[in-house]
Amino acid sequence: MNVLVLNCGSSSLKFQVISVDQESIEQNNESVLAKGLIERIGSQSLLSLTAKDQKTQKSASPFRNHKEAIDFILKWLISPKAKIPKLSSLSDIDAVGHRVVHGGEKFSKSVMINERVITGIEDCIDLAPLHNPANLSGIEAISEILGAIPQAAVFDTAFHSNMPEESYLYPIPYQFYRRHKIRRYGFHGTSHRYISYRYRQLGAKEKKDTNIITLHLGNGCSACAIVGGQSIETSMGMTPLEGLAMGTRAGDIDPTIIEFLNLKEGMSYENIFSMLNKQSGLLGISGLTNDMRELIEEEEENADRRAKLAINIFCERIKKYIGAYLAISNGADAIIFSGGIGENSPYIRKKITAGLDFFGISVDDQKNQEKVRGVEGDISSANSSIKTLVIPTNEELLIARDTYRCIEGIM
Ligand code: ADP
Repeated sequence: MNVLVLNCGSSSLKFQVISVDQESIEQNNESVLAKGLIERIGSQSLLSLTAKDQKTQKSASPFRNHKEAIDFILKWLISPKAKIPKLSSLSDIDAVGHRVVHGGEKFSKSVMINERVITGIEDCIDLAPLHNPANLSGIEAISEILGAIPQAAVFDTAFHSNMPEESYLYPIPYQFYRRHKIRRYGFHGTSHRYISYRYRQLGAKEKKDTNIITLHLGNGCSACAIVGGQSIETSMGMTPLEGLAMGTRAGDIDPTIIEFLNLKEGMSYENIFSMLNKQSGLLGISGLTNDMRELIEEEEENADRRAKLAINIFCERIKKYIGAYLAISNGADAIIFSGGIGENSPYIRKKITAGLDFFGISVDDQKNQEKVRGVEGDISSANSSIKTLVIPTNEELLIARDTYRCIEGIM
């Protein structure tokens, strides 16, 4: 089955076409037929398109909305000049799997999309005002262009939906949860779930024996404690703003700061939340960039004090969460790094794990250096009682597999 995986952001769109069936799931050997990214939808959009075994093509084109961008992608996928194996007409695309950011309390697993599901995603717009409308516009565009093709929704929140009340409730008056569903939902669930699955596969472990801490460290960052294969704690909350320090998000802060800034700086709540989401984290502390690679260069080459401070705060926060999750989970078998930073920076992995020998966590320098650019595996020293691993995430693959499973009724 050829599944088009779509991840529609507010002004961007990522896609992959993945060929998936029961055999490929069991043998872990799906093939990616094509993939791409369209940025700046709404103005002069930038395209990056890659067909299987061919060079990436970059171009620019004006797309007013997601529908125009999706229409273009579909035409490209089946065009003779793209030369994509197994794709020559729209009927070669069997299904579409959408990443949907917020499923609230309604969705605890991936589902086939129908009118009821669309209403459910609309009901969660209050909780994700930027993301869910973009996801819905992708679903609508596919229905308009491809008619009755099967579509599935895979939610970022679903993996965390069985967290215990003690983890998901904020200690504020209970009536606000009852009235407005104010609670922690957690995000990056598809990534944490994939990492957990891959960890089991690498070590031939059962779900019940999966007691791990997963660290998804990209532009957005989150930690997750997984016990018995289930997410029992995660660092993002009602929105992705809570938790670790991120590229541009502040993560945990004292909420009083918001009122204080309103009084002292005359900033509107809208501006304060924009600052906390878009100008904080690594960017806010360094005053330079949200890009970890550039910060590491600034620290190394120019001894930039604030680049160093941003990196230190980033790592310190992660350390604190590892400690907290080890306490919550009564230890763990492994700590797993993933995401752009977690998969590619031996320096940051070393900094985070340094000084955790009390817990039996120790990283081997040589193994750590080798695990970059998609290489997965164990980076711990022989004497570590808690292993440290690098596992590149693959949310698109899990979305394609879930879409297949939803269609086959085995989700
Ligand atoms: P997103 O959350 O947008 O998917 P990614 O998972 O691609 O982001 O991660 C982006 C981050 O990964 C950026 O901060 C980037 O600098 C960082 N990164 C990528 N490669 C490296 C590297 N070799 N060393 C350090 N950081 C890296």
